[in-house]
Amino acid sequence: MTDEQDFNIIFGPCAIENLRQLEHFFKTFPDLELFRGGLYKMRTSKADFQGLRGDGVDLLMNAKKRYGFKFVSEVVDFESLAVLEGVIDVIQVGARNMYNYELLRAVGKLEKPVLLKRAFSATLKEFINAAEYISLPPEKITLCERGIRSFEPSYRNVVDINAVIFLKQRTQYKVFVDPSHGSGAREMVSPLSRAALAAGADGLLIEVHPDPQSALSDGPQALALSDMHQLINDLEKLCPVFGRKLKWSQKSKE
Ligand code: PEP
Ligand code: MN
Repeated sequence: MTDEQDFNIIFGPCAIENLRQLEHFFKTFPDLELFRGGLYKMRTSKADFQGLRGDGVDLLMNAKKRYGFKFVSEVVDFESLAVLEGVIDVIQVGARNMYNYELLRAVGKLEKPVLLKRAFSATLKEFINAAEYISLPPEKITLCERGIRSFEPSYRNVVDINAVIFLKQRTQYKVFVDPSHGSGAREMVSPLSRAALAAGADGLLIEVHPDPQSALSDGPQALALSDMHQLINDLEKLCPVFGRKLKWSQKSKE
């Protein structure tokens, strides 16, 4: 997904909600290279918004044609894999499915890049074993540390910075950090992003919403568009300190 020197940011809403949300988002970030957004949402409560599911595919197809981004989205089972196959460029497998080995095998067969999230309580050995089920060359697989469960109730999860260092030292995979799910709190996203860069991560996965207060999922951890701009500006200055180049827009290649 990135060159060795690049520090890549993938961002977008937790869930894709409607056309207005996408238009608002791309008005601010028209040249985004990789756009994340959930169409299938595995929510802890059945009463919560489950995503647009297959009904959102046309919306995304049209947006891709218009803005030229690559789409990163989660598949939750074989059915969603079949529905999304034609529209996704990077296949996300979520924390709740890290142990779903049959799904991992099926995902690998498509030979698209895969973003695999660590399960809440998975050991790193289990995480690496799960990645092996995908059976793709390491450059096509990104491991995403998205926070693990701890005894501390003050935040949603704890970003395991050790894991970033360990995985970079012991595996060939790209390693990303998701500070949004890793903390559950928007005010922690920016400091954790800087920590990820300092620890040697290859990039970040961040949740952003044009109107976080009205988000149908994960509003408290979503950055507003202006916060995301600020974070990009901050990281643009900080990356060279670590010998890295920030990459997030189609123009950052130039
Ligand atoms: C997500 O990134 O949208 C998501 C659901 O994350 P996780 O699988 O890490 O909970
Ligand atoms: Mn989310």
